[in-house]
Amino acid sequence: MKDYKSMLKEYNLKATPQRMYMIGEIEKSGHIDIDNLYESLQTFFPYISLATVYKNINSMVDNGFLTEVKIPHQKSRYELTKESHAHLFCKECGKLEDIYIDTSMLFDAASKESGYRITDTLVTFEGICKECQAKDR
Ligand SMILES: [Zn+2]
Ligand SMILES: [Zn+2]
Repeated sequence: MKDYKSMLKEYNLKATPQRMYMIGEIEKSGHIDIDNLYESLQTFFPYISLATVYKNINSMVDNGFLTEVKIPHQKSRYELTKESHAHLFCKECGKLEDIYIDTSMLFDAASKESGYRITDTLVTFEGICKECQAKDR
């Protein structure tokens, strides 16, 4: 198990038991939405409120410890901040996966075409995952 306590400290965040548990859950699932996180937190912290979960998640996002992954027409999911990557979203089972591909071509093309000073490249592919494709057959 990773040392979440010192990870949090690096980001100037207090290592509360709730936060430690949240981070564990986020790491385990890779990407989690607030509702699922709230549900699993309740087994250990029955009195935690949804507002507290939001507050904690937002402060960890503000500090850059967590990254919000926006998916069209879906609730945002949260992940531990990692090296920049793109996402794959399965429209059938709702799974979200990381994919490490070079998006610099998109970046270059978009800045050249638009003249924008682009700061972030957020790429999410939608489709049907391998497992769901196998089920369809
Ligand atoms: Zn799937
Ligand atoms: Zn990711």
